[in-house]
Amino acid sequence: MEEDIERVLVDEQVIHKRLDVMALEIRKDFPGEVLVVVVLMKGAFVFAADLLRRVPRMLEMECINVASYHGGTESSGVVSFLDHKLPDVKSRKVLVLDDILDTGRTLKAVVDRLYQEGASEVKTGVLLSKDKPHTDNIAADYVGFLIADEFVVGYGLDYQGRYRNLPYVGVLKAEAQ
Ligand code: 5GP
Ligand code: MG
Ligand code: MG
Repeated sequence: MEEDIERVLVDEQVIHKRLDVMALEIRKDFPGEVLVVVVLMKGAFVFAADLLRRVPRMLEMECINVASYHGGTESSGVVSFLDHKLPDVKSRKVLVLDDILDTGRTLKAVVDRLYQEGASEVKTGVLLSKDKPHTDNIAADYVGFLIADEFVVGYGLDYQGRYRNLPYVGVLKAEAQ
């Protein structure tokens, strides 16, 4: 697996240090609230696990499945909600966690949908944000790292279902794609 990686972009220790800071910000921004944290599967599962264990607050975690990539390295542009039912967020403060902000279509679709479902406030957190214009200028409230516009894997992010278990974020070799 590691032999397919061209270079490490964000290493494990750097990620963990950054998560300490992000967790502190989240703690301060939601004093006393029982937050609903909506984790976008599957890409955000490692990020969410490591981040939420650093947030010593009562919270409810829900996972939802959305798809915008269909196996390749380009976003299809269509965001589909794959669950029969979404979590009940009526009048709740919600924090959405995703792995990466690329075109921004996924976060925009999810945030719009959660407001439609009656959330009182929706904030967003991503481990990575690509340095490019995003749909409707959407920006995440909490961003781990700003990265160049290239396809990355690891720390939850996949290429065709693989590489999610790499402990760092890296760039795949061209011959592995
Ligand atoms: P967006 O809707 O912002 O274009 O894309 C968001 C989703 O596309 C992310 O949740 C992630 O699943 C996927 N994605 C975007 N960029 C990358 C990337 O560089 N690597 C991987 N593995 N997935 C990506
Ligand atoms: Mg995703
Ligand atoms: Mg994917």
